[in-house]
Amino acid sequence: MAAVENVVIIGSGPAGLTAALYAARAGLEPLVVAGFQAGGQLMLTTEVENFPGFPDGIMGPELMTRMRQQAQRFGTRFIDADADEVDFSGHPLRVKAQGCWIDARAVIIATGASARWLGVPGEERLRGHGVSSCATCDGFFFRERDVVVVGGGDSAMEEALFLANLCRSVTVVHRRRELRASRIMQERALNHPRIRFIWDTVVEEILGDDRVTGVRLRNVQTGETRDLACDAVFVAIGHQPNTAIFRGQVELDQDGYVRMYPGMRTSREGVFVAGDAEDRRYRQAITAAAAGCKAAMEVERWLAEQPLEPTAPADAAAARDGR
Ligand code: NAP
Repeated sequence: MAAVENVVIIGSGPAGLTAALYAARAGLEPLVVAGFQAGGQLMLTTEVENFPGFPDGIMGPELMTRMRQQAQRFGTRFIDADADEVDFSGHPLRVKAQGCWIDARAVIIATGASARWLGVPGEERLRGHGVSSCATCDGFFFRERDVVVVGGGDSAMEEALFLANLCRSVTVVHRRRELRASRIMQERALNHPRIRFIWDTVVEEILGDDRVTGVRLRNVQTGETRDLACDAVFVAIGHQPNTAIFRGQVELDQDGYVRMYPGMRTSREGVFVAGDAEDRRYRQAITAAAAGCKAAMEVERWLAEQPLEPTAPADAAAARDGR
């Protein structure tokens, strides 16, 4: 490992790996702290049909393996562990992984987000076999079929509206009688002829052996349970940005997303961000990859503008640590 890395990229989904590819080809020899579950959310999907360049589709894990190989080909190095802690209070910036501190001139945060799941029986087992958290990714597999969407926020309405163009029927199951979604999204969903709503109801279990065949519902007012046949369940109860280690280090918004400033910058000089860790709106592999590309280009420019280090970096770190 270099005494001070040019750039450490935290995360190895499409944003992190594209940032690595661009940084590596720019001669920055990036180091990727890839995460314990390397590859990000695409490792949990099956076939990806909307990533340009793969007319026959590609499996999510294979796409990520290829992205990693491509970044590696130009000299990217990987640590297959989580970043446990960061210290962005001075320069060099510091990232801790596998018990060791890594010093870096620049950092790209690309830790992504994780879908929230219901945590009910059947959900994990049938993920990729009818249980999904992304209609844009998986809706197409269920065209002319009956699907359930769980949730009452904008994401759920968006998923339901997207699916209503493809599926025979869409049933939104919401735990209250009132939607959380914005008025306009509510109206669109409520007025759509192929979307119906089941209120005051939770999904207690997702049914099926090797693919989803239905859901067990419970009305929270009456306690009554019943089974509803369906071919897929789209869970849209929100996402959680993976940003816990950055709290107090860079500005986060009220939901924990990294606040991004022009030039893919964060509130901390030298720390950049790309992908779902800051983007709650698009959340696509292709948009994350594009963001990773932009962040790497911004890092390259930013590093070129920096004056040469006044002190040897190792000395600076030692001085800060009181060593
Ligand atoms: P959200 O607004 O937090 O809504 C989550 C929904 O899931 C809520 O209706 C919530 O029910 C329900 N829920 C949460 N946990 C649940 C559980 N364990 N079981 C059953 N239901 C559960 O999340 P979001 O819809 O992903 O939106 C996040 C943010 O992104 C929002 O600010 C939203 O406006 C924005 N967004 C905007 C757009 C757009 O403008 N096109 C699209 C997507 C997202 P309760 O209502 O009972 O809490």
